[in-house]
Amino acid sequence: MIKRLTALFMASVCTLSLCYAQNNNIFSYKVGDYEVILLSEGQSDNKTDKLIGATPEILRETVPDGTYKTAVNTFLVKTPDKIYLIDTGFGRNLWTNLDAIGVSPEQINVVVLTHMHGDHTGGTLKDGVVAFPNAHLILSAPEYVYWIEEAKQENASRIVNLYGERVQVVTPEQLEKKQGDGIYFIEAYGHTPGHMACLLQSGDEELLIWADLTHAMAVQMPYPEIALTYDSNPEMAVNSRKRILEYVAENEITIAGMHIAYPAMGEIKASPEKGYLFTPCSK
Ligand SMILES: [Zn+2]
Repeated sequence: MIKRLTALFMASVCTLSLCYAQNNNIFSYKVGDYEVILLSEGQSDNKTDKLIGATPEILRETVPDGTYKTAVNTFLVKTPDKIYLIDTGFGRNLWTNLDAIGVSPEQINVVVLTHMHGDHTGGTLKDGVVAFPNAHLILSAPEYVYWIEEAKQENASRIVNLYGERVQVVTPEQLEKKQGDGIYFIEAYGHTPGHMACLLQSGDEELLIWADLTHAMAVQMPYPEIALTYDSNPEMAVNSRKRILEYVAENEITIAGMHIAYPAMGEIKASPEKGYLFTPCSK
């Protein structure tokens, strides 16, 4: 049974209201009529060897002990008529997390893959078969073209073949077409060729699930120009990060990320000194 921590409503720095927090894997917010639930696959301390362009001075300033916190997250979104799962993580804690919030894999209507790296697609299949038998699978057109047609990557191809006719590809023309309440896909290319973020809008509230726009918050908030060797096109990834950070800071949009430590959601402000400041939502 989920414990409702109503006392924390007032403590949150976020404009959204907290529904509940449960252990270090599950955290839920309301976005208008939608409920957004963090389902975490876990978190860890990462070394800085994958950062591109971080000078010794920057590292001393931002990560004095030489490590930064990171996580692997998925998000479940309940709208009044559909249940969306945004990424499927490694497929490790996902099943117990879904069980803990009382959602069965059969109830999920839409699985969105922000991109096709293994830490985002790992739970899309289970024991070699489709894990969400009633779900459509959404990914961007450039992502599909890259992994399936160019790289011919085995795991990505298996996923797409098994979901078959239920795969829906988001074309560049369909990106960023906001028309009121809904889930919109935002171009955030660079980390992978078709990497996309998801903007949820319900009533007058918004949340941007920005996927892998950042991997090392401690470094990339003050220095958004620092990329990682995981980025397929580091320069494009930096441009996407800067553009989206400016947009969410200006419009005061709460954000959530796949590699942000628990509770993985928070507010972004332009820093008077350099880059941006991130304030996590209260637990
Ligand atoms: Zn990732």
